[in-house]
Amino acid sequence: MIRSSDATVWAFVGLGSNLDVPRRHLEDALDAFDALPDTRMLRCSSFYRTAPVGFAEQPDFINAVAMVETRLTPRELLDALLTIEHEHGRVRREPNGPRTLDLDLLLYGSIVHHEEGLTVPHPRMHERAFVMVPLAEIAPGAEIPGHGAAIMVARELGHDQRVEALAFDAVA
Ligand code: AMP
Repeated sequence: MIRSSDATVWAFVGLGSNLDVPRRHLEDALDAFDALPDTRMLRCSSFYRTAPVGFAEQPDFINAVAMVETRLTPRELLDALLTIEHEHGRVRREPNGPRTLDLDLLLYGSIVHHEEGLTVPHPRMHERAFVMVPLAEIAPGAEIPGHGAAIMVARELGHDQRVEALAFDAVA
């Protein structure tokens, strides 16, 4: 397992919800990140209303990307994210289906790593406007290994995936 030893690493986490009160799930998750050991919330993007990808017969999602500073290893951080998901009662029915809270470890510093149950960078992040647009908002220069800067990747995704930044009081 990779250890970050004493180094502090910047990591990016993708958040999504389309059940119950999505804004509340995202806000609670952001608070939970800050409460993790050796971890501090640094920044969060705007909240975005996004069209579901894959399984279309479901409500729009609310998505955001958060930047945290952490001394947790990638595995420890992912396990913590999965625990937070679980606490929000996430039920996995079908892939890409509705969910109360979905958390993805997008980037962990500049590390490229794969082990059972953990791949960083997240393998599909560069294909998803609902990840790349919020990421580019808070860290336009963040390098997606093999794909380039976040802002460039976001621009190349074009306009076929609906992603709308929301005014704070418009988030349902
Ligand atoms: P999903 O339900 O599509 O969010 O997938 C969650 C599963 O993907 C979990 O069991 C994780 O172990 C695995 N996984 C592998 N890499 C990552 C990652 N970078 N972020 C989130 N989940 C991951």
